[in-house]
Amino acid sequence: MKKVMKDYFHSLESGKKKVAWCTSAGPAELIRSFGFEVFFPENHGALLGATRTAMDFIPEAIKCGYSGHVCSYTTSDIGSYLKKQSPLQKHYGMKGVPKPDIIAYNTNQCREVEDWFTFYADEFNCPIVGIQPPRYLDEVTQDEVDLVVKQMKKMIPVCEQVSGQKFNLKNFKETIKLSKEATLLWQKVLKTSTAINAPFSFFDGTIHMGPIVVLRGTQIAKDYYTTLLAELKRNVKNNIGFLPEAKTRIFWEGMPIWGKLRMMSDLFTSNGAAVVASTYCSSWVFDRIDENDPWNSTARAYTEIFINRSDKAKEKILAKWFKDYNIDGIVFHDSKTCFNNSNAKFGMPQRLQKLTGVPSIVIEGDLCDLRFFSEGQSITKIETFLEQIEDCKVLN
Ligand code: SF4
Repeated sequence: MKKVMKDYFHSLESGKKKVAWCTSAGPAELIRSFGFEVFFPENHGALLGATRTAMDFIPEAIKCGYSGHVCSYTTSDIGSYLKKQSPLQKHYGMKGVPKPDIIAYNTNQCREVEDWFTFYADEFNCPIVGIQPPRYLDEVTQDEVDLVVKQMKKMIPVCEQVSGQKFNLKNFKETIKLSKEATLLWQKVLKTSTAINAPFSFFDGTIHMGPIVVLRGTQIAKDYYTTLLAELKRNVKNNIGFLPEAKTRIFWEGMPIWGKLRMMSDLFTSNGAAVVASTYCSSWVFDRIDENDPWNSTARAYTEIFINRSDKAKEKILAKWFKDYNIDGIVFHDSKTCFNNSNAKFGMPQRLQKLTGVPSIVIEGDLCDLRFFSEGQSITKIETFLEQIEDCKVLN
């Protein structure tokens, strides 16, 4: 992992190729087909959270007029840019974040990315392109897919001009093929934890998802997950889980709390609870993209993703996952600065319990801004919740 990520970051600085910045849930496949190196500001945001440097940078963005209550990926990333400091310097020996030649966004996750990326398009005076898939749908129909295809095709002339390369359908198809192969392997990696002794936790997933986010559409990502999957399959076969014996199986709903991954992981394992699955790590499973139908299948994949759907559609997806992973309880992370990936605000926990019988708790926190997270309160809440689930299991 260290080598893969290091090589990736260094390739961005090599100067051999032009650099595109892109949102993590596409349209990286189209962008990559023009031969750009692709940098993902959200990945940088997660790095700022995980290294707990976000807190140093958020005030800089606030001074610039950004509310401290909007996406802390956005505010910490902008603050890091304004202070000209990045963990990429310390951890990967880079000069800093690579400059973009073009910026591409996809509002299938939120409108924040458009605001965030537009800030940089203005700063670097570079072209910005984007797609806006319709949001909150119960079902995605061909009408929506057609609309997104049109939006994607509008990106082509700008990408051609910046890259100096004509759009090449063969390259696009090849990128999609590699992307699909990696994404299916990632899906299989996540699914190994349907085993009774789950070999791979949500917290492992937040680390191992690096390549599926930043290298989707390359052979490197495919190779990485081939190796990881083989190892996890061996563990399943030999009945080796990440916990010797889990008392409860938990689903994590919402964003990770990047600055508290270790603490959270230890909290659950020390209470015999295995956090076996999450919506977050599944966000990079685009299992229906298809190189034989490149436009429709990518447009559909970008529109159909969990975060972009109605509560009704989300509940259906979650109910299936709870069954697949044999879930005993759900932890909803109500993230203060990411309204878009917090699903406990409109009665979903209650409706899901009615639908599936799976109990839940809601903990308050944030992806990067730890001012919104109370460690003591969360520990008490989670431990009480886990005890209740165990008591219920014994009674049943
Ligand atoms: S989905 Fe949430 S965390 Fe991700 S960019 Fe949008 S607001 Fe920020």
